[in-house]
Amino acid sequence: MYTVTDPATGELVEKIENATDGEVREAIDRVHRGYLSWRRRPVAERAEIVSRAADLFAERADELAATMTQEMGKRINEGRGEIGVVVDIFRYYADNGPTLLADEPLEIKGGNAVITKNPIGPLLGVMPWNFPCYQIARFVAPNLVLGNTILLKHASICPRSAAAIERILHDAGVPEDAYVNIFASSAQVPRILADPRIQGVSLTGSERAGISVAAEAGRNLKRAVLELGGSDPLILLDSDDMDKTVRATATARMRNCGQSCNSPKRMIVLADIYEEFVDRLTEHVAETFVPGDPSDPATKLPPLASVAAADEVAEQVDKAVRQGATLRTGGRRLDGPGAYLEATVLTDVTPEMDAYYEEIFGPVVLVLRAETEEEAVAIANDSPFGLGASVWGTDPDRMRRVAEQIESGMVYLNSAGGSQADLPFGGIKRSGMGRELGAAGIEEFMNKKSIRL
Ligand code: NAP
Repeated sequence: MYTVTDPATGELVEKIENATDGEVREAIDRVHRGYLSWRRRPVAERAEIVSRAADLFAERADELAATMTQEMGKRINEGRGEIGVVVDIFRYYADNGPTLLADEPLEIKGGNAVITKNPIGPLLGVMPWNFPCYQIARFVAPNLVLGNTILLKHASICPRSAAAIERILHDAGVPEDAYVNIFASSAQVPRILADPRIQGVSLTGSERAGISVAAEAGRNLKRAVLELGGSDPLILLDSDDMDKTVRATATARMRNCGQSCNSPKRMIVLADIYEEFVDRLTEHVAETFVPGDPSDPATKLPPLASVAAADEVAEQVDKAVRQGATLRTGGRRLDGPGAYLEATVLTDVTPEMDAYYEEIFGPVVLVLRAETEEEAVAIANDSPFGLGASVWGTDPDRMRRVAEQIESGMVYLNSAGGSQADLPFGGIKRSGMGRELGAAGIEEFMNKKSIRL
């Protein structure tokens, strides 16, 4: 079932039956039919339609933000901010698509060639609930401009966002068969991937889902982009304004109630400023991130996306404490029907504890102590994940030197957890494979055809 349950109140708002196997087959027929004509439309026309989609996302920002608040508890202001990024992404590919897809002349031994940039066919998208609109935009905007068509399976707690996005794209002029939302179950995903007309899959979600979808993609020789979990390190080298550093790092971690793949989940602080940082961070987190109603713009800490998610994070915190970690603040599930968990700071987490290597997908900061810059880098890299990272300090050369040693797909200096339309996004190790956004994001499901002249 697809269900909408308000995580602030626990109220069950809507239930929608999963698609039947017949409906899934019909949806595949449609995106295949859609591809045969969509790929023939001139790039400029497809870009124009994607540009209209950007305008419609901007017009409907309030409605989309309210839907996300109801489905997964996102703070209303963060929801509006998310739609701002979505608009940027659709505009970026509308504006730059025609240039990114231009033929590339090539001088080769004994003659000339040209590389042409072509779509490959209908694609499957499997998307998560944490950024119900942004995650879809990263995959859909470049592929529509390129000429691929999309069958989209959204998270089962986000059916209203899924339907609203489909409406926007169709209203913008994307043909009904070029973008099809399907309320499929996870169990139907392998059957979709086995259909020879589907040419690839993009999954954003957990490692567990990534392993399953990657295996099916491999079995069927389909291209796959996997955007999976992370436990991003944040290395703090020094600070000339500790209050500002504390506010900025805590805000980055608590964004989206800590449910961002590239949130700075492990803060690694050099020994000489460790005690001061931990004290001020603990005080700031306890005072500022007080649970509240996500539809109230003044709220700083909304519920998690579901009761199950809140229970799981609370159990990870409890287990860390049972294994010897120090709980500086928070850690308690709030009584009542909502999915609330107090903002939490944990220290003294060691490699023997599960929390050291796990992703904690909620409002929990782990602060780790490093004696030297070298040890900070070693701790940062001692992770199964390699999505993002950040380095904070006052000396740009030193920060850059540290950034270059970090094993991750992205590093930010003096900011964390960000994303923008023109900067490639993606990870290494167990954080996945492939890139979204920027020029790289339009190439993943592209046929770069060599024509020898
Ligand atoms: P999830 O449980 O893996 O769900 C993601 C999507 O995959 C949903 O549509 C889900 O469907 C589907 N799914 C789950 N198991 C599947 C399976 N075995 N086969 C096929 N599809 C399956 O992840 P989530 O809890 O929604 O999202 C949180 C995770 O996503 C975190 O680990 C986070 O770090 C990661 N994430 C990564 C990025 C990135 O860019 N790297 C961005 C955002 C989130 P149902 O809803 O029907 O179960």
